[in-house]
Order: sequence, then C-alpha cells, then structure tokens
Amino acid sequence: MSFGIDDLPVRDELRGKSPYGAPQLDVPVRLNTNENPYPLPEPLVERIAERVREAARGLNRYPDRDAVELRTKLAEYLTKTGKYPVTAENVWAANGSNEVIQQLLQTFGGPGRSAIGFEPSYSMHALIARGTGTRWISGPRSADFTLDVAAAGQAIAEHRPDVVFLTTPNNPTGNALPVETVLALYEAAQAAKPSMVIVDEAYIEFSHGDSLLPLLEGRPNLVVSRTMSKAFGAAGLRLGYLAAHPAVVAAVQLVRLPYHLSAVTQATALAALEHTDTLLKYVEQLKSERDRLVTELRAIGCEVTASDANFVQFGRFADTQEAWRKILDRGVLVRDNGVPGWLRVSAGTPEENDAFLDAVRELKKEQD
Ligand code: PMP
Repeated sequence: MSFGIDDLPVRDELRGKSPYGAPQLDVPVRLNTNENPYPLPEPLVERIAERVREAARGLNRYPDRDAVELRTKLAEYLTKTGKYPVTAENVWAANGSNEVIQQLLQTFGGPGRSAIGFEPSYSMHALIARGTGTRWISGPRSADFTLDVAAAGQAIAEHRPDVVFLTTPNNPTGNALPVETVLALYEAAQAAKPSMVIVDEAYIEFSHGDSLLPLLEGRPNLVVSRTMSKAFGAAGLRLGYLAAHPAVVAAVQLVRLPYHLSAVTQATALAALEHTDTLLKYVEQLKSERDRLVTELRAIGCEVTASDANFVQFGRFADTQEAWRKILDRGVLVRDNGVPGWLRVSAGTPEENDAFLDAVRELKKEQD
C-alpha cells in the first residue's frame, strides 16, 4: 500500500473524504457541469486579448486589490438587469462564486459556528463549510424537491445556524424559490439568531422569474451570490460576485487574500462585461432548449422536475449508476448528483440535446 492522505497528519474532518469532482471525460457530448455550450464570440476573444496584453505590461505590479473598476461594471450589470440599483460598494468579486462562498463562510461561519442548506442542493456549500471548519446542517426538502416553508423554518429555529443557504434556482433539482419563501426564511433566520442568509443565484439569468436583488433593501444580513460561469458562458474565467450591504463587502475583506483577483482575471472579466449583450444572447436560446428537454423527456416517459435553470433533473431510474453509464456508452456525459433515481442534464446546443434525447429514448426502450 502506498503512502496516502490518511498517513499524513490531516485534519480529522478530512479523513476518508473525496475531493469534489465531476468527471472531466473526453466524450462527444458533455452535458454534466451546467456550462454554456457556446464558445465566446470572436470579437470578444479579440477584445480579451487586447485587454490582457495591456494588463501584461503592468504585471510587475500587484493588481488593484479592491477591483474597483470591475466591481463598478458588475454593479452596472446588476442595476440594469436586477430591477434594483447597486453600486461598487455593494459588490464584491472573487475567483468563481465558490470563492465568494468560501470568503462568506470564513467571515460568518468557522469553528464553533454552523451553516444550513436544504438538500439535495449544491454540494459545494457543505464542502466549503467543512473546509472552513463550519459545522454543516442538512435541512429538509420535500419529496418533490420544493421547500416547505414550515419545515425549513422549523429547522432554522431548532438549529439556529449562523449561515443559511437558499439556492434559487436550485442545483441539481432546477426549481426556483418563490419570493415569499425567501422572505419567510430570512425572517426565521433573523428571529433564530440573527444569521446571514446567502441566496445563491448562480442560474438566475435562466429563470422564468426575477432576481431577488430587490430584497436587499433594508436587509443587511442578506447576500445575493452570482457568477459569470453560466449565463455569461465564461466558466473558464473563474469570476463570481456578490451583492449585499456595504458592511458585508467590508467584512469579507477581512478574510480575502490580498490581490486574490489577478490582473489577468480582472482584465478578462472587464472585456467580457463590455460584451454583455452578445454573451447573454444565448440565454434565450438555452432557455427554450431547456424547455424542449423538459417536454421531450416527459414524452419519452421520464419524470422531470420543473426547471428554472440551464439544466434539467430527470428520472426515475431503479439503478441510477447503470442509467448514467448506459447514456455515457452512447457518447453523452450527464451528471449523477447522488440523488437516488435521478440524473441531471445541462442544456447544450440543439444537436447535443438531440443526441442526449436519442440516448435516453434507447435506454427507455431497453428498460420497457
Ligand atoms: N452555485 C451553484 C448553485 C452552482 O451550481 C455552482 C457551479 N456549479 C456554483 C455556485 C459555483 O460556480 P462558480 O464557482 O463557477 O462561479
């Protein structure tokens, strides 16, 4: 037996654990990580090259530690699309929303503190909690994957967590939360502790409904987390951001590493934000492909959870692992999120979605 992790003096809570890892397999159709399937348009690629060349000339210096220009542009984007005015003071950016969430847990969680999420939900919330020494509480979700306000509120009252995660639209189930639910759970969290409520809106641009940004008014313990990985089609850029009361932005600066956002990242993100309209033009197409996936999967005889995201949860399979493998054997990679009976597929190009639907059709025929 070779020397392994558990032979090292690692922290107890890391023993026997596996790292987060959606398989990165080289197959014809990859629909497993909710990426945007369209490459960046050529004029944007050119603009990125230009801005990065400019930034390269200054790489002997540390980047703008506070990323003020970038936060200003992100604030403009939010103000334009979120029906609520925010400024750079309300916005903070980091390397993906994963890092935003990590900074929030380092600030508001940590040893002796706890965070709750309503599972199944985005598994990194629990993993980042673990990495920051925050005790994780798995809150309840109904059998149809909706959130029962009374049950969720009761879990908050009982556990009095320091941080509450509300993911809308939720990953991997795809459904969004009604605004009344978020309001009720914010109130429950304030009555219980008070705690910070993080609304993870990674997929909000694909939703039938609006962003919850206007709820920030008068609610300093609310944070809305966003990303350029999905709707902007820039997962490789690693740029996530949050909107909140300026005090929250000041607080996360207590834990962020100095110069965490490289000059190259800031330049690339700024170039991308100059092309917001071009980038977001695929959102409508992906939404209609998402709706087509829902309709066609149901026609094939699958159960499907209503989706407000760029992916669809479908089932149910007696053997989820086997179904995943059989779809992969037909050249299509989807995601097994560990929800028994269910798999998740990201909306791809029309051709990719056709290939996926053909694979499921064949699988279903085999099973009937
Ligand atoms: N939140 C949710 C709900 C997600 O599904 C993801 C990515 N799958 C993220 C946050 C993190 O995205 P990123 O770090 O790329 O911004």
